[in-house]
Amino acid sequence: MTLFDSSAFEAHEGVHSFFDERSGLKCIVAVHSTARGPAAGGCRMWPYASAELALEDALRLSRAMSYKNAMADLDLGGGKAVIIGDSRKDKTPALFEAFGRAVETLGGRYWTAEDVGVSPADLTHARKQTRFVAGLEGHAAASGDPSPVTAEGVFRGVKLCVARALGRDLAGVTVAIQGVGHVGAYLAEKLHAAGARLVIADVNEQAVAEVARRTGAQVVSPGAIFDVEADVFAPCALGGAVNATTLSRITAKVIAGGANNQLADAEAGRQLFDRGVLYAPDYVINGGGIINVAGEIRALERDEAFDPAWVEAKLARLTQTLEEVLDRAAAENRPTHEVANEIAKARIAAAAAERLAA
Ligand code: NAD
Repeated sequence: MTLFDSSAFEAHEGVHSFFDERSGLKCIVAVHSTARGPAAGGCRMWPYASAELALEDALRLSRAMSYKNAMADLDLGGGKAVIIGDSRKDKTPALFEAFGRAVETLGGRYWTAEDVGVSPADLTHARKQTRFVAGLEGHAAASGDPSPVTAEGVFRGVKLCVARALGRDLAGVTVAIQGVGHVGAYLAEKLHAAGARLVIADVNEQAVAEVARRTGAQVVSPGAIFDVEADVFAPCALGGAVNATTLSRITAKVIAGGANNQLADAEAGRQLFDRGVLYAPDYVINGGGIINVAGEIRALERDEAFDPAWVEAKLARLTQTLEEVLDRAAAENRPTHEVANEIAKARIAAAAAERLAA
């Protein structure tokens, strides 16, 4: 199979691989679309078992960023970087400087930021080599950690879906959260403050214990989170949480969480629909983080300070967009992920047509 046959390829504008012998950097940057503006999306560091798996992840995540940025109404296209390595032991300043040089070679067609396994501190090293880095701390345009804004958007989305599917507010609703890292932990605190009952799981025992202490959440093992009797299942770990094995075990009437690529495939989304489960399309509900990052890119490009009010306006618009997706899916009796994909593709195609005509 070649790159062009991969099901995740879907007309990527560019796929770039980088190797730096001195630092050991092995990295893929996938640029799905620049029709709406420069491609933007985080950098993930993960110990992929093979380069093929890393490529597949980069392509899927990059396409999802195009859709996410379009749905968040940002003047940005979609891209993603993946670094092959173990973030617990393979990180060095030299590795991230090499990554910065790799990003610089793309000349601004791709803006990077943090994702799983990569922190703002890591990106300060990349920033020494390229200006196309967002999500940093300590300068006037800086937006800092995007996770709290992602969690706020997810929180508003969960609230909306619960109102739609269950006709109630969050008080007393049981939410099962898979993964209490950056996004999951902030989400847990917001849900707890709104009166929800929480059941949480994480492979990181320290993280799960800390969140349980702060929120009174019940802790279950990572494998048991799918079997929890909950009103809402919130995937906030890695992709593919909703798959052929877990589908029949999840009894929640709402699936709404922060993770990217929650559905293992389109069939999983179709089955959720058939079972009457309301699914909040991941790249719509979790767009808060990229909105925050876009606020930084905007400030950097205008040489201005970061504007939280601009971010809040976009976040409010994002919840409206989620509402529009749910409305249209209900009116047309179709799965939410299909409707979201259709809207995102139409927005990207319209921008591409406009660019060609210009
Ligand atoms: P993170 O690494 O801080 O948190 C992920 C957590 O999931 C970790 O605590 C990890 O131990 C846990 N985990 C991994 N495998 C697990 C499993 N099998 N069962 C239970 N827990 C497991 O990452 P994050 O920044 O919180 O991001 C979480 C998800 O949200 C990712 O899919 C990411 O791509 C997506 N996302 C994050 C942001 C953001 O602003 N950080 C924005 C949009 C989307």
